[in-house]
Amino acid sequence: MLHTEGPLLTVDVGERAASETAIDDVLETNVGGRAVATALAHERIPFDADPFGSENRAYLATGPLQQSGMSFTGRMNMTGLSPLTDGLVSTNAGGYLSRNFVGTGISVLEVVGQSDELLAVHVTDQGVEFEAVPELEGATVPETSEYMTERHDLGPDNCIAIGPAGENRVRFASVMTFDSRAFGRGGLGAVLGSKNVKCVTFEGDAAPPVEIPDPPEMDVHREAAQSDDLMRRQGTTGSTEFINDNFALPTRYFSEYEFEHADRIGGNAVEEKKYKKGACSACAYACKLPTRDEEAGVETEGPEFETVYAFGSSQGVGDIVDVMRANELCDSLGMDTISAGVTVAAYLASEDEFGNAELAREVTERIAYREGIGDILAEGVDRCHDELGVDNYTVKGMEFAAHDGRVLHGQGLSYALANRGADHMYAGMLTLEYSGELDPEGTLGKAERLVQEENAAAFRDTGIVCAFGSDYVTDDRLETLFDADYEELMEIGARTVRLERHFNNQRGFDRADDGLPYEIPDLEGAIDEYYAARGWTSDGTVPDAALETVAPSAD
Ligand code: SF4
Repeated sequence: MLHTEGPLLTVDVGERAASETAIDDVLETNVGGRAVATALAHERIPFDADPFGSENRAYLATGPLQQSGMSFTGRMNMTGLSPLTDGLVSTNAGGYLSRNFVGTGISVLEVVGQSDELLAVHVTDQGVEFEAVPELEGATVPETSEYMTERHDLGPDNCIAIGPAGENRVRFASVMTFDSRAFGRGGLGAVLGSKNVKCVTFEGDAAPPVEIPDPPEMDVHREAAQSDDLMRRQGTTGSTEFINDNFALPTRYFSEYEFEHADRIGGNAVEEKKYKKGACSACAYACKLPTRDEEAGVETEGPEFETVYAFGSSQGVGDIVDVMRANELCDSLGMDTISAGVTVAAYLASEDEFGNAELAREVTERIAYREGIGDILAEGVDRCHDELGVDNYTVKGMEFAAHDGRVLHGQGLSYALANRGADHMYAGMLTLEYSGELDPEGTLGKAERLVQEENAAAFRDTGIVCAFGSDYVTDDRLETLFDADYEELMEIGARTVRLERHFNNQRGFDRADDGLPYEIPDLEGAIDEYYAARGWTSDGTVPDAALETVAPSAD
């Protein structure tokens, strides 16, 4: 089976020491990306770790396809113990980092420890250097990239960085790359912040040899380049009005299901502001959205659909320029736009200020610096809803993505059960329910399909193949690329979900954490079906006998 090559590089920022470990067995068994990072995290992060403690570990991992020139592979995986959910979380970002990471010759970077001063870590094919950067304290993400470009000639393509939100341990702080691409969900930016790591750069010319068997690379490229999908013009925002028409666009902090101004913030509105094409490395599909409004003085990349929801319909804001401003602000300060936008929406609900975009911006900025009310909101909805006097729209502490589970019941089931919490990228039930392949009504009988979707998503994050490429990098082509049966690949996905669940079980997660803040039909029965399909106990825990791992422990 095709898999990533290269050692695990452990960087202890407290000791300012780096060491390499051969992890061939882990790579051969788990291929790369999320599966490898999860296997390592499960063995090497203590089950009782504090997410902000020196013992927490953050993993940045590539897959084997990042050494190809194939479309839909310009992405990377990041994994760690989340300060938002308190469980393991994996998150995925595009941009141009993956090829520079591969050039260092490693397969996985592991960051552990806690530095006593703000650091930049430089990873090259010649080794690791540590640079104290006290002058970057409080710097935004673009300011950090600029500094690295001027000092080291390493731009945003070579860099992951955190903004003030990460330094201030905002629980939904993101890790940014290419200034505008986010390892967004779960607060791993705050984990780097707790370690006093402002940025990590990657540079080298030592990509290990990986041979892709009979690559369908050129076919995928040609089809991606010739596609006339709306998504190529409008990115993920192209479906805003369709989702709104299906009453699946949560509005004014979940008090409504559709937004009367969806057309002002949706795909056409975004396309009007788009001034050039945008992509991730090697991707001919180029679905990204560089936008600007000269009059307002705003230039950003996006907003993507989820930001249109979080800073638009959720807040009752019906002007695309306001959503673009919020997007630019979150990217610059280093915050997940979904959790930040929904948390600000909760605040607007508490103040009866829906539609006040200026107040929303002010509060967003305060969150990053933990100023005044921002200090409370920086904890996320789960921890601050009582103080605000609003309902708690989260699962496992994570704020909901759009695609309303109250309408798409299979998607609701996915939100209830996902190890990561209420995130739409954990399983693709929403796609099946929007298309009519599955009836959106009801939950019973959907568990088997949910298991398949979770396993498939976990494998794509392992390979690593963009979630938007499934019409091009088809299941058949995955078999060719990885030189394995589809079932073998799905078993890797299943093992990853199992290890995440087992880790979370050791931290006290069980059936009580699998649920929703609203009612959908037969949820408890569907949860039973899911546990049975997974082979887990009726309490939502993984039997120890079901575990197998070859990952080395940290000692
Ligand atoms: S489809 Fe879009 S998000 Fe995915 S790799 Fe290509 S440009 Fe990036």
